[in-house]
Amino acid sequence: MDYESLLESAYVEVKPVEECGRFEIMKVKGHHEGTKTIVTNFLQVATCIRRASTHLMKFLNKELASSSEISGDRLILSRKLSSKEINEKIEKYVNLFVLCPKCKKPDTELVEEKGKTMLRCMACGDKYEIHKI
Ligand SMILES: [Zn+2]
Repeated sequence: MDYESLLESAYVEVKPVEECGRFEIMKVKGHHEGTKTIVTNFLQVATCIRRASTHLMKFLNKELASSSEISGDRLILSRKLSSKEINEKIEKYVNLFVLCPKCKKPDTELVEEKGKTMLRCMACGDKYEIHKI
C-alpha cells in the first residue's frame, strides 16, 4: 500500500458510524460534569459541517477561552458552558471556515497553499485565504 492510500484508509477508520448525508449545522447535545461541559455529539456536528473535529475544537477553545479534549464522539470542555454559547460559536465557525463568502454555499474545502490556509469553493470555484486559528 502506498502512502496516499494509507492516509485514505486512516481517514475512513476515524469516520463516525452515523454520517450526515447533507450539510447541516447540528445543535450540540450534552451535559455538565462538575465544572466541565461534555458535548456528546461533537464528532457528528463536525462531520455534518464537513470539517475536522480537531479544527473545530481549536476554534472553540480560542473563542470560549477554554481547553478541551476529544474522547471518542465527545468533546470535553474545561469550562461550564451553555449549549447556546457553544451553538453560537459553531455558527460563527461555519460562517468563517465553511460557507463560501461569495455564493454562500457549503460545498467548500480547506486547502494548504504556500503556508496559507485557503477556503476553496467547489460550487463557484473561488478561493479565499482564511485566518489561522
Ligand atoms: Zn462559492
